[in-house]
Amino acid sequence: MPEPTFEPMTIGGAAVAGEHRFEVVDPSTGRAFATAPACTDAELDAAVDAAHHAWSGWRADADQRSAALVAAADAVRDAADRLAPLLTAEQGKPLADARAELRRAADRLRHAGTLRAEPRVLRDDGTERVEVYWRPVGPVAAIAPWNFPVQLATAKLAPALAAGNTVVLKPSPYTPLTTLALGRLLSGVLPSGVLNVVSGPEPLGQRLVEHPGIRQVTFTGSVGTGRRVAATAAPRLRPVTLELGGNDAAIVLPDADVPALADALFWSAFANCGQICMAVKRVYVAASRHDELVEALADRARHVVVGDPTDPGTRLGPLATKPQYERVGELVAAALAGGARAVAGGGPLDRDGYFYAPTVLAGGTDGDPIVAEEQFGPALPVLRYDTVDEAVERANDTRYGLCGSVWGTDVDRAAQVAARLEVGTAWVNRHLAMSFDDPFAGVKDSGLGVSGGEWGVYAHTEPFVLHRPC
Ligand code: NAD
Repeated sequence: MPEPTFEPMTIGGAAVAGEHRFEVVDPSTGRAFATAPACTDAELDAAVDAAHHAWSGWRADADQRSAALVAAADAVRDAADRLAPLLTAEQGKPLADARAELRRAADRLRHAGTLRAEPRVLRDDGTERVEVYWRPVGPVAAIAPWNFPVQLATAKLAPALAAGNTVVLKPSPYTPLTTLALGRLLSGVLPSGVLNVVSGPEPLGQRLVEHPGIRQVTFTGSVGTGRRVAATAAPRLRPVTLELGGNDAAIVLPDADVPALADALFWSAFANCGQICMAVKRVYVAASRHDELVEALADRARHVVVGDPTDPGTRLGPLATKPQYERVGELVAAALAGGARAVAGGGPLDRDGYFYAPTVLAGGTDGDPIVAEEQFGPALPVLRYDTVDEAVERANDTRYGLCGSVWGTDVDRAAQVAARLEVGTAWVNRHLAMSFDDPFAGVKDSGLGVSGGEWGVYAHTEPFVLHRPC
């Protein structure tokens, strides 16, 4: 555990300690261990102003932007080992996972340095030449959640910056510290005001979205908050990109090789303590393979090392926040009360902090809240099906549409089934794997707009069309 600590905001390239502070809790103890600045209205105005002033310089030179993003990537990579304990302390993930998150954030910034929204010639017929240019939109408000504070913050800012926008970034008040440290780190690399990081409890996010100087909003978080963000942005005609929750189904086909897939499927559900938007949140398994799969998953749940996230042997730490810990407990209790069985886990661990036993539930129904809603925690319902058509129908019978997967030895058959899922991304025999080049977009309530790859960069631009005689 690091010493009691404090991280300032970064506004216009300067470190701003602010007058007001709020506490940050270490989820492995349940106790506050640090404070962060609670951004005032005046400080928010200063952050948006700084983003405005920096914009004309930043948008002007794509080569300079690419070089700056690569320098930012180097800085984050070099700081990964130093910042990982802070990320672990505020979020609860094991140190190795915190390091991996920071390194992936660095890789994402490096990748963004290769991305450009290139102009195109639409027509050149000897009399007229028509060109389309992709202009940055202007200062972008980026709002991030607490499950991957650094990686998701970087996923917001990398494409926005690559497109030539400046950013005001707001982390979750549960996990502000590493993002504030990132802002300070990058203020030594990026021109002043290009990236501003502010922190504070609500209504800071709301004030940022409605701020008159903001031209676009990119948000990652829950469906409910996403709706509020969209409602705030709508009367201001401000474009929003929303990356929201998921309730991803995995369908295990009758020909699946259960021993071969069990590890991958287990970690697709339990990595980061299940706190991943596109984690497997419910499994539909052919009745003929049900008992074998339940036992394979339960065996892993019983033996995975859960504990102090600073211990190198730990694979799963606590849940990141008290409300999330309580919610998972309530969802599991409701499933058990409804007739499901906990084949592994089934309750909190008897220790300080927000530790919950990895839980595999069998015998539940699609009506259980843990099946119908996003649990976002280390508890996985496994449900049997009789026909593949039924499995697809039940997988699609949800307001969510983020990702899904199908597991079987006949991969062509599995791919045909995967193609029937109403989601933005589907996999065969894996889940969670995504490259920086892929477009990422949830359907239904899981999101609005697209991020990832070149699509993410174009999403932060507006077309400008120039007609001229030849
Ligand atoms: P949340 O919606 O509670 O908060 C997200 C962010 O919004 C936080 O920074 C919060 O402070 C801010 N916020 C809260 N109220 C706001 C308002 N009225 N206006 C503007 N901002 C406001 O989400 P969370 O609990 O931090 O994160 C978990 C959720 O995020 C899960 O539902 C998960 O599935 C989702 N998520 C989605 C993706 C994705 O890419 N689709 C990735 C990660 C997490």
